[in-house]
Amino acid sequence: MYSKLTDLLFTPACLNCKRFGLALCDRCLLQLNQVKKFDLNNIDEVICAHSYEGWLRDRIIEYKSGNYQLGRGLAEVLLAKCFEPLTNITIVPIPSSSEKIALRQIDTIGNLANQLKKLDSKIQVKKVLGFRHLVQDQVGLTQLQRAENMQNAFRSTKAIHGQVFLLDDVVTTGSTMAAAAVALKEAGADSIIGIGLCASSKLH
Ligand SMILES: [Zn+2]
Repeated sequence: MYSKLTDLLFTPACLNCKRFGLALCDRCLLQLNQVKKFDLNNIDEVICAHSYEGWLRDRIIEYKSGNYQLGRGLAEVLLAKCFEPLTNITIVPIPSSSEKIALRQIDTIGNLANQLKKLDSKIQVKKVLGFRHLVQDQVGLTQLQRAENMQNAFRSTKAIHGQVFLLDDVVTTGSTMAAAAVALKEAGADSIIGIGLCASSKLH
């Protein structure tokens, strides 16, 4: 009885339909449609698992509101939709502001990167980005205001080389990602691919 109970507790349930077995079942994975964008400065391409809508949007909101166990299933979404069969890759997560980390008790994007690393040993995570200055919350700002707010926002604490996968959760106008890419190029990154769970309609 005890072993059956622990099996049940540790068996993952699908991020969407909650069926036991996998953290993301094939049927729900098929409902996601990858979004790509190519015209952000310093970034070769941005690959998002889906548009910012439907069940994935709902799960991201739940995750950021405190249901951090969803991080495992969200990492499965990223792995399935945003990466080719993997060679060794380096992921740099976009940092959360210290206010948000204090509020949530967790760096939500850094946690997604850690979950990805747990899923695949060929992934390494380098948390090299920090804020150069305080930035305003981007919610409610226009595209131009967002770009100005994020300009020179980041710095890299270490040199970095080769190809880098820059990770965000929701890519809205791309201004955060573009600002992070500037810092990574300054730190020595050769090429940058942006990865996100969802792309807002503002990005299309
Ligand atoms: Zn499912």
